[in-house]
Amino acid sequence: MIRNHLSTIIITIITATMGVIAAISFGKMHQPEELFPSEGLTGKVMLSDYFEGIKGTNGDTEVYLFDSGVEGGTALVCGGAHPNEAASFLSTVVILENLKVTCGRVFIIPRLNNSAFTCSDPMEGFPASYEIPTKIGIRKFRLGSRVTNPLDQWPDPLVFSQYPSNQQLSGFETRNINRSYPGRPDGNLTERIAYAIIQLIDKEKVNIAFDIHESSPEVPIVNVIVYHENYEEIAMGAILGLEMAGLQFSPETSPMNFHGLSHREWGDYTNAIPFLMETSNPSMGRLRGKTDVDLVLRGYCDNYKKAKETGALRIAYREDTGEPIAHRVGRHIAGVVELINSYNLYYPDMQIVIENLPDYDMIMEKGVGEFLNN
Ligand SMILES: [Zn+2]
Repeated sequence: MIRNHLSTIIITIITATMGVIAAISFGKMHQPEELFPSEGLTGKVMLSDYFEGIKGTNGDTEVYLFDSGVEGGTALVCGGAHPNEAASFLSTVVILENLKVTCGRVFIIPRLNNSAFTCSDPMEGFPASYEIPTKIGIRKFRLGSRVTNPLDQWPDPLVFSQYPSNQQLSGFETRNINRSYPGRPDGNLTERIAYAIIQLIDKEKVNIAFDIHESSPEVPIVNVIVYHENYEEIAMGAILGLEMAGLQFSPETSPMNFHGLSHREWGDYTNAIPFLMETSNPSMGRLRGKTDVDLVLRGYCDNYKKAKETGALRIAYREDTGEPIAHRVGRHIAGVVELINSYNLYYPDMQIVIENLPDYDMIMEKGVGEFLNN
């Protein structure tokens, strides 16, 4: 009898301890990592400054401004629409921590769906965080979920009816910000965040806007620049420039009747010229093996090597080197730079001149950590 009581007490203590550890770990997910913008930073506001309806929610997020003081155009660079895509967030952090603007203005939002940074995708086995060695020490970053935290928006409907198109998608997509544009002021949290982005683009008269993503290697949209049909020539100009630097990108027009995506709705509902880029991330793919930090950062997976060798699948995977984070971040930054260069040729009166960003070869040679501040 006494023995039974003792084992009950021990099991209760162990369970309670595990609960406390889990609670602390979940609590930490709500604390965003500190970022260290370059000296070119001139202002920092919150997204809720453009739409009050997300104030005090986990959907509110930092908006960083680099204003050269010289009249020109305005760019917006967004990462973290899908926080399970490490290179999406990291590319914007590298830009934030190195950027110098000498003409026009650049806005940066590294955590576009901040709520989705506070949880991870169930059943995927993703690591909760990853570490990048820098010149001074280790920087730790959260790996989040593709969609808004269910604690912030629940329950999902069986079928998601996209506003205002009424396009029907699976209920899960209700929490996907990149299906929620243009959003609405009285909608769910994800729609309200989307609405706030549209307000920012309008109020700040953004000329060119970037939405940075990653995809699994077997998705056909990987390594493309997705452009709105009104701005094909800017995409083509950038792709030529990137090719001259040895980087292959394919052009892809935004499908006219696929609604809710940034490259469609930012182009239809605002005056901004939108571009979306995707890199190949094997840690997101269905063929992947063990899902760990090594796969997220080194991007190497034997399963993909074998799949590539069989030729049965069209996959964006480099069988010898894999898809390391430096390659993915290097591609995104090169894409942003070349698209702005191409934009400048077509809009000479609204120039945006950005400097001091590392090029693809520098990032590949030195690693991403070399370009992060402490
Ligand atoms: Zn994405």
